[in-house]
Amino acid sequence: MAQARAKVEATRPEKLICNGCKADVTDIHPVDTRGLRGIEAIWVGQCACGQTTFAASGEPNAVEAFFFALSENTELTLGSQSKDGENHETA
Ligand SMILES: [Zn+2]
Repeated sequence: MAQARAKVEATRPEKLICNGCKADVTDIHPVDTRGLRGIEAIWVGQCACGQTTFAASGEPNAVEAFFFALSENTELTLGSQSKDGENHETA
């Protein structure tokens, strides 16, 4: 649906901050969020250092659950940041 796609595009962060080396990750792709209730959009970026960085937006509880599920299944270091890439924190 074009409208849904536009809504997702509106949440695209300018960049992600790598949780491994703190570099700017600008090669960002949307992840299909169908079936993830409360999640508006998920973005994934691959840093040159090999770390995969995620950003999710939507209902806080849903976002938290998503990152929790992710941390259960991977060795990822999770972090949060504001949309413009400032205020980066590693969880
Ligand atoms: Zn990195």
